[in-house]
Amino acid sequence: MIVICPACLAKNRVADEKIAEKPQCGQCQASLTPYAPIELNEQNFGTFIQHSDLPIFIDLWADWCGPCKMMAPHFAEVAKAYPDVIFAKIDTEKNPRLSQAFHVRSIPTLVLMDKTTEIARISGALRTPELKQWLEQQRSKIGQ
Ligand SMILES: [Zn+2]
Repeated sequence: MIVICPACLAKNRVADEKIAEKPQCGQCQASLTPYAPIELNEQNFGTFIQHSDLPIFIDLWADWCGPCKMMAPHFAEVAKAYPDVIFAKIDTEKNPRLSQAFHVRSIPTLVLMDKTTEIARISGALRTPELKQWLEQQRSKIGQ
């Protein structure tokens, strides 16, 4: 599968069974599966969603949003459990065009993407068990 490097955006080919073995970028040696949320923005978003063979779980948030801040450590915690999902955060204030493209009405909003297809979304802050449950349920829809 193709995995996009979060640091340099290089496309890396990784065998499916190697994805949990902490693969590194062939170009810059950064971790391809950082087990932590990465930051997506108007510069790197297109490359990720067009080319990443891993699903992308996006947290649309803003600095002024209390529930977003409450959820952040939970989102980061869940990221540690899923090497085969890219966890990403999009700052809606810094990326107004992306925010608009997602038709974000309230934050936090969570969106699960498979390439350019939106699989599912949910608004409102979730805690670790709810995040895991939602992700498991929605992820099972990919490829069906
Ligand atoms: Zn790289």
